Amino acid sequence: MNTKNDGENIEQRKIIHIDMDAFYASVEQRDNREYQGKPVVVGGTPEQRGVVAACSYEARKFGIHSAMPATQAHQRCPHAVFLKPRFAVYREVSSQIREVFHQFTDLVEPLSLDEAYLDVTHNQVYSGSATLIAQEIKRLIKEKTELNASAGISYNKFLAKIASDMDKPDGLYLITPEQGPEFIKTLPVRKFHGIGKATEKRMKAVGIHTGNDLLQKDLNELVKLFGKAGHFYYSISRGVDHRPVNNHRERKSLGKENTFSKDISDTNEMLIILDELSNSVSRLLFDKQLTAQTITLKVKYADFELVTRSRTIEKPTLAGRKIFEIIKELLTKTEAGQRKVRLLGVSTSKLQEKDTKRVDKAEQMNLL
Ligand SMILES: [Mg+2]
Repeated sequence: MNTKNDGENIEQRKIIHIDMDAFYASVEQRDNREYQGKPVVVGGTPEQRGVVAACSYEARKFGIHSAMPATQAHQRCPHAVFLKPRFAVYREVSSQIREVFHQFTDLVEPLSLDEAYLDVTHNQVYSGSATLIAQEIKRLIKEKTELNASAGISYNKFLAKIASDMDKPDGLYLITPEQGPEFIKTLPVRKFHGIGKATEKRMKAVGIHTGNDLLQKDLNELVKLFGKAGHFYYSISRGVDHRPVNNHRERKSLGKENTFSKDISDTNEMLIILDELSNSVSRLLFDKQLTAQTITLKVKYADFELVTRSRTIEKPTLAGRKIFEIIKELLTKTEAGQRKVRLLGVSTSKLQEKDTKRVDKAEQMNLL
């Protein structure tokens, strides 16, 4: 294990990030030859008011992307093939690729069914070349599953993840410790892991567009602007990320929140935002194949006072509609509306691996 105090130079780590290309859609194209070369959209059907869970590269050419409403995808490309997901198959492929990872190291941290970090710092094969190991992992995955994966190689998780996206599909991309800091300078902030649309907007408002702009800010300034996250941005803009590859994954909670540029007093407006947040959280759960038992609403009033309201339900869920139903009820237990609100958040906890047999069909349909 890499720890900061075992005398090892942390910058010498070798981290690989593997990410399957257009995962669900590629599995469907593999199993149905007639879909090969065609735009394929996996997720909700346009009739069901569902969202796109994954789409093939052919579909992306029409501007379709994941999390987009299926009706919109249909407008952009009416002749696309719309398919319901087959999770049992995806999970099987997922365990095949995890077997490949474990041939090289036990330090594997899965992020979802088709994505994982590997720490191969202490691997002796291929004279310790992480690039050659990544190449071999890609080859073995292809051999076992007939599917393409992209690999990013670097000295920390942050850069490895960015690297895997650089050369997709079927990519292999290395960012060395020498290249890291220069690489980050030119990177637009939206590419930074952990910087979502809301944060991107706030950064742009203060003139931060790239890694280099971040680098110009001192720590105090970043903390003042972004709170705790300021520390992370400060290190990351210097290419420093000490987070270890964690093979005993235990996620405690999963959530999304939104800070507004102007305080909100209209409850209807809040409900629209909370509906969206509930759906995003539902998608996060779905991607990680988790269900949640506790739903929490977070409200920060205009005067920065923070309150949370939670409810634990009997049957774990991942359905956006169910989450929103509870959130709606929890909102009535706050003073939102009478008091202006500057932040709303939805989070879920008491997470458990989704048991495909136990989550009923109706629930699945609800989500998509
Ligand atoms: Mg992927």
